[in-house]
Amino acid sequence: MTRDGINRSFWQSAESPNLSSDFIDLAFDTIIVGAGITGVTLAKELQDRGIKCLLLDKENPGFGTTGGTTAHINNFYDASYNEIIDNFGETAAQQLLLSTFDTVDYIRNNIIRNRIGCDFSVCDFFLFSAEKEQNEQLDQIYAAHQQIGLKTSRVNSIPFNVPFKKAIRIEGQAQFHPIKYIDGLLSAYINGGGALLTNQIIEDYDNDENKISIKTKDKRIFTAKNLVWATHTPPGKNRFNFLLAPYRSYVVVLKLSEGSPKAGQAADLYDPYHYFRYHHAEDGQYLIVGGFDHKTGDEKDTERHFDDLKQWADEHFDYDELVAQWSSQYYVSADGLPYIGRMPDERNVYIATGYGGNGMTFGSMASLIIPDLIEDKETPLSKLLSPARVKPIASAKSVVSEGVNVVKHFVMDKLSPETIKELDDISKDEGKVVRFEDKALAAYRDREGTLFCLNSVCPHMGCTVAWNPSEHTWDCPCHGSRFDVNGNMLNGPATKGLSKVDLHF
Ligand SMILES: Cc1cc2nc3c(=O)[nH]c(=O)nc-3n(C[C@H](O)[C@H](O)[C@H](O)COP(=O)(O)OP(=O)(O)OC[C@H]3O[C@@H](n4cnc5c(N)ncnc54)[C@H](O)[C@@H]3O)c2cc1C
Repeated sequence: MTRDGINRSFWQSAESPNLSSDFIDLAFDTIIVGAGITGVTLAKELQDRGIKCLLLDKENPGFGTTGGTTAHINNFYDASYNEIIDNFGETAAQQLLLSTFDTVDYIRNNIIRNRIGCDFSVCDFFLFSAEKEQNEQLDQIYAAHQQIGLKTSRVNSIPFNVPFKKAIRIEGQAQFHPIKYIDGLLSAYINGGGALLTNQIIEDYDNDENKISIKTKDKRIFTAKNLVWATHTPPGKNRFNFLLAPYRSYVVVLKLSEGSPKAGQAADLYDPYHYFRYHHAEDGQYLIVGGFDHKTGDEKDTERHFDDLKQWADEHFDYDELVAQWSSQYYVSADGLPYIGRMPDERNVYIATGYGGNGMTFGSMASLIIPDLIEDKETPLSKLLSPARVKPIASAKSVVSEGVNVVKHFVMDKLSPETIKELDDISKDEGKVVRFEDKALAAYRDREGTLFCLNSVCPHMGCTVAWNPSEHTWDCPCHGSRFDVNGNMLNGPATKGLSKVDLHF
């Protein structure tokens, strides 16, 4: 299984079966684009409801953030319940909590029903203040949990050797191996006659009277009544470019020495917070530690975030060996809750996005909402999370918008001596944006010395991409589109890659 960065996540060692299916049908009830936790869970759910689906991915299942997650299944969110009560009211917060309990049960039932071996376990979450100044925030979260009925208690100890001022224990959490989980669901889906196509980027579609058509790379045209963008962020230019902010988060996995098995998940209340959890696998016990998030494209020295995380982990944990490190992307919504449901102003098109760091739960919850909508059933939950809601509350992290002219593919000739010198000065394994008159090149020199030059203008809305040295990618700071050194699109909302530049010295 491949992922959208060069660092291998802990989950990539799972041996994913080749599940791309052989089928001749061209017409479906629903086409789902994106085979992460959202698309895969939804495909299986729709199949179980008798709805014929085609599931497509531009690469392979798990290529997106599902392959780079830390896979906590939580019943609370980055937007805390006191914030949700403030922004949406107590009834809405209670509604969300009940649906969250249903979602955690739903994941567990999927595992049991489909006999999926995915290191699933249940545990408690320990949320703590690391400094006195965070006590009030913790108290507010605790009070909100009491108010809406989420089992939470004050505790004097936590199962991690990390100092804290005050701590609470939130019951009813779970965790698993995300790739083994989606592979298990996919196998069941394929065995039940489901259709899956990999390596098929969907750039565009037609939405005519009661019929949506998409054309794949190999020129096959598929039609369906409904289309679901399970692509983590909906592609193209739409209102979600202004309602979502892309962030990167960093993760290390530490192998722990043999000893009595430990259980638990925890986080402090810094912004960005440090989060960690135990993970039991067949070959031993691990600690997964994450944090040091930043807005995509904003940091030149992304390696420093790994260094900071490793230093923080060294200060707080005893371990035998660091076995994996990677970074991955998430999208924060403007009001703290995800957008799941009908795409505004489009007929029979659905989206599920803006999960923040809670996509295991929200990505699964999408399978409780979208099938109902497809069957024309509105629920209080679908109304709460409707993508059409107007609640641009500024309390969530800032959401960026930028409109710039898009520059099309270009040929660079008559480079100035300064530009040639700047390109020459790029070291092996270094990437840099090099400017020339009114244009800019995204230039990367590989370890053998070959130079790869791309148009640095993101094809989505015209922002200039930035080099991410730790994942070897070009990341757009405006809406989070990402590209590899050959220009191939890794993450949307762009639907095309960066164009190659022909240099004429
Ligand atoms: C470091 C990190 C840790 C996290 N930890 C947690 C956690 O502990 N718990 C939790 O609940 N959440 C966590 N999250 C968030 C969670 O992992 C994500 O929200 C979730 O994985 C998103 O799943 P998805 O299926 O919606 O999208 P993805 O997994 O990103 O899948 C989208 C798929 O769409 C495909 N695609 C995109 N565009 C196209 C196109 N045009 N044509 C065809 N295919 C396309 C991609 O190839 C990809 O496979 C974390 C996020 C990060 C970054």
